[in-house]
Amino acid sequence: MALLVQKFGGTSVGTVERIEAVADKVIGYKDAGHDMVVVVSAMSGETNRLVALAKQIDPQARGRELDVLLTTGEQVTIALLAMAFEKRGYTARSYTGGQVKITTDSAHNKARIKSIDHAKISDDLRQGRIVVVAGFQGVDEQDNITTLGRGGSDTTGVALAAALKADECQIFTDVDGVYTTDPRVEPQARRLDVITFEEMLEMASLGSKVLQIRAVEFAQKYKVPLRVLSSFEEGEGTLITTEYGADKAMEQALISGIAFNRDEAQLTINGVSDTPGVAYQILGPISDANIEVDMILQNVSADGNTDFTFTVHRNDFDMALASLQQTAERLKAREVRGNNKIVKISIVGVGMRSHAGIASRMFEILSNEGINILMIATSEIKISVVVDEKYLELGVRALHDGFDLKTAS
Ligand code: ASP
Ligand code: MG
Repeated sequence: MALLVQKFGGTSVGTVERIEAVADKVIGYKDAGHDMVVVVSAMSGETNRLVALAKQIDPQARGRELDVLLTTGEQVTIALLAMAFEKRGYTARSYTGGQVKITTDSAHNKARIKSIDHAKISDDLRQGRIVVVAGFQGVDEQDNITTLGRGGSDTTGVALAAALKADECQIFTDVDGVYTTDPRVEPQARRLDVITFEEMLEMASLGSKVLQIRAVEFAQKYKVPLRVLSSFEEGEGTLITTEYGADKAMEQALISGIAFNRDEAQLTINGVSDTPGVAYQILGPISDANIEVDMILQNVSADGNTDFTFTVHRNDFDMALASLQQTAERLKAREVRGNNKIVKISIVGVGMRSHAGIASRMFEILSNEGINILMIATSEIKISVVVDEKYLELGVRALHDGFDLKTAS
């Protein structure tokens, strides 16, 4: 018998029929003898609908009252799901975040959980009740309603699992697990049975949006085993865990997955003097404009001059370019160039820690396809390249093939 926290996202509770199906699924686990805590999102589209309503009143709507509004979406689904359990002859209790109680800081619209008092839930479980909790919400020290940021129900699920010391936090969603890469780009992509938190965080930050990043970080910090699985199909899903078991580690592939990001843009400033403070003078105004910089590259200087290249989100391209042009005038740089038709492709895997030559293998695979690499960056478990956007599909597929990701490790 285990204590399981299961989270169902918006599409999984998008209609009354689907809510009834969730009830049946949870009851399957309950009947197998498990203690069940269920976290739900609002019905799909509901949070967006509420945001749109708010914007009709005030296009800048945010803060306390927006949170009061948005949390109503989840209050609807907890009640409906609890009713579905009761109708089936099970006792259930639904709770809003504030009732649990989940205490957060006061940063409305993006609050962070500070503590969870799980006494009520533990008592309900002892009484054999199924507990249903509203995702995405809490209250601050003054009992103001707060929300955890869009997609925040994942975090609620993980935080509850940590507080209750649950055996597993299971995130039910519309995909059946984490894949070696996006199946829409590479149809041969394969579902992973296991992936580490570290790898998952790299994949997620690179745009593979299966889980809210914050939820993965939370699970890693509190060592909560996390499983992603489909609401609609049977299957084991993907387990996200601290490390591969010893048996698994032996057969572990060098690379676990290939992530990519289409939202990149590249900026270059040529011919700036290679003196202390130049990087700061170039990137200072960019960060003052709240533009996040991803990769940064500075050339070895020739004749006291150097070139400086960096990437930003494509949405920030125009602003970054304007800022860089101003900087160029000030620094008397030779020229400024920009390219917003680039993408980033990354290979990710803890296996590369113990194996040399992965980078050169990656470059070999890309060169065999005639793909020119514009920038390279590496970290302990990731190698990223920037390439022209027209090579995205080709590059991802070639790497998927070249690193043998179609065959199960
Ligand atoms: N309903 C919220 C949202 O749409 C929270 C969630 O679904 O996780 O962002
Ligand atoms: Mg959602």
